[in-house]
Amino acid sequence: MTILAFEGLSKNYGANPALRDVSFDVPSGEIFGLLGPNGAGKSTLIRILMDIIRPDAGTVRVFGEPRRREHLDRLGYLPEERGLYTKQTVADVMTYFGSLKGLTRGEARRRALEWLDRVELANVAGWKINRLSKGMSQKVQIASVLLSDPELCVLDEPTTGLDPVNVRLVQDLLMERRKNGRTTILSTHQMNQVEALCDRVALINKGRLMVYGEVGEVRRRYSLPEVRVRARGAIPPLPLIAEAVHEGDSTWRLRLADGTPPSDLLAALVRAGAAVERFDPLLAPIEDIFLRVVREERA
Ligand code: ADP
Repeated sequence: MTILAFEGLSKNYGANPALRDVSFDVPSGEIFGLLGPNGAGKSTLIRILMDIIRPDAGTVRVFGEPRRREHLDRLGYLPEERGLYTKQTVADVMTYFGSLKGLTRGEARRRALEWLDRVELANVAGWKINRLSKGMSQKVQIASVLLSDPELCVLDEPTTGLDPVNVRLVQDLLMERRKNGRTTILSTHQMNQVEALCDRVALINKGRLMVYGEVGEVRRRYSLPEVRVRARGAIPPLPLIAEAVHEGDSTWRLRLADGTPPSDLLAALVRAGAAVERFDPLLAPIEDIFLRVVREERA
């Protein structure tokens, strides 16, 4: 089921096009990676979704309907430009965020305390916001967005600047959202995180949608036809192998002859008597795909 659909979105700032005819769907229950270099148009797209700005053309559908203001209660948004400039306490600010999403004050406060505990900050509930360190403040803001349990939420670089323990904590929260059927759009430049977390990606460049699809499928689409094989003994020379590079430790990288499916090579190796212990088609890293697409466009 599709929870969000962008259809033909265009937006210009003066003569400067920020989005050009962008259409894609976000399926329900996924962690969806929104990728693109600085200035690609990601924030513009998110701001249109959040009704902060209006597109020049195109439509947004959420929850199966044309986007309306009333949908905002069911959406969460952690913007990139952060900051909670206030002298109120952490628990009060979080309670306020919860009540903005339609929770009663009592329920919002209960969830604020529960979520502080979940991000390992139970001790700061009574602190003034301006006492928080940068990392603490970031976790408080993530918790403030997630405490209303939004059906769809957009997190812009949620883990930037966090230490590895806290990165893992935030990743676990996102995976738990997925387990509960919630949808999360993750805008990030951290490609290892995309591979670790995302089900699907959209890559935007210069306002255009360049790549869209399931992560594994996108990686296969952009991969060279190569496999890594570990085998006891030697790799027999076969016509299906265009090139074999010994990487050491009984491991070879094999480039397949044009049009050869990896499964055919595996079968041929076994038939030829090779003692294959591992056989892994090599997938292009998302980072390589990103660089390739963005550079080709620049050239
Ligand atoms: P991203 O979030 O991918 O970095 P943005 O959506 O912020 O990209 O920006 C897309 C393009 O629109 C860029 O060329 C940027 O300079 C321009 N832009 C964004 N916001 C404004 C604005 N308020 N006024 C004029 N130009 C803008």
